[in-house]
Amino acid sequence: MTFTTKTFTLNSGAAIPAIGLGTWQSKENSTRDAVKHALQHGYRHIDTALNYGNEKEVGEGIRESDVPREEIWVTTKLDNHWHHRVKEGLQSSLDALGLDYLDLYLIHFPCSTDPENRSKHLSDWDFVKTWQGMQKLLETGKVKSIGVSNFQITHLEKLLSHPSCKVVPAVNQIELHPYNPSPNPPLQYSPKLLAYCSSKNIHCTAYSCLGGHNNSPINGHTNLTSDPVILKLAKSKQKTPAQVLLMWNIQRGVSVIPKSVSPSRIENNFDLDGWSLTKEEFAEISAIKTRSKVVADGWMPIRVFLGDDE
Ligand code: NDP
Repeated sequence: MTFTTKTFTLNSGAAIPAIGLGTWQSKENSTRDAVKHALQHGYRHIDTALNYGNEKEVGEGIRESDVPREEIWVTTKLDNHWHHRVKEGLQSSLDALGLDYLDLYLIHFPCSTDPENRSKHLSDWDFVKTWQGMQKLLETGKVKSIGVSNFQITHLEKLLSHPSCKVVPAVNQIELHPYNPSPNPPLQYSPKLLAYCSSKNIHCTAYSCLGGHNNSPINGHTNLTSDPVILKLAKSKQKTPAQVLLMWNIQRGVSVIPKSVSPSRIENNFDLDGWSLTKEEFAEISAIKTRSKVVADGWMPIRVFLGDDE
């Protein structure tokens, strides 16, 4: 099986590469070098966000790689305090990246905040209004596909049922790994986010797909790479735990964006061709019972993770 050139076709008609490079908490020079190294090593998908403060370095890495822009999929995200200024938010990201268009622009969280006081919720502004601005961006040619991130079933139901919603989000970027799996049927016993998105033709991209960072001030770490089942399978398949984790998500139709600034780990995370998980191995990972989430919402003025996917 070849996964490094695999893409998933979105409801917009665009094809998102199955494997991308995450850049949250990647710092300045290391971001530039990581992006450059990843692209020169074959990655064709880079994920960033205005919130990460590194769009400029991501753009530098893209240019230094000498890979033609049209061969690269670039995703960035609208930050919470730009919800009522979507056009300006997009332009700010394009300027920082030094690009004239994005492949995918996401609403980072279903939470609008006051630019003057980012811990204050803009109570007269919700993501349904933000989505109206996102839809308009498609007419500018500066964005090829639009989507959301951290949207739960409740948010999507509200958005999709609103008369102003003319474009179904192409992607929902959410936390997906064996400790926060959003299981597919037959494990599903009530509507779950991944199954829900699939029923609406919304592709899911998995963030924190390796279990996240262990030095984050606001988030947890799942210790996924030392899970006994993952370790056992990695040993028997002569792969790394990270590779096993990535394969598990890709094989269930989810794109992955592992973050690394280490050249050897960037290469390792992309070394996914010529093998796959058997049905039994896949099922063994899916049956892991430990539950743990990396990204929390306590730093935002409203709850985002509503528990409707538990
Ligand atoms: P990941 O699950 O990708 O884990 C990253 C951590 O794993 C880093 O500490 C990295 O260290 C380490 N690592 C990378 N490769 C390996 C490997 N092969 N073996 C062992 N350790 C490894 O965490 P993230 O939370 O960063 O998620 C990935 C990306 O998803 C983000 O970077 C961001 O782009 C996106 N994201 C989106 C969110 C959203 O709200 N939409 C929220 C969170 C993330 P090192 O760099 O030293 O290799």
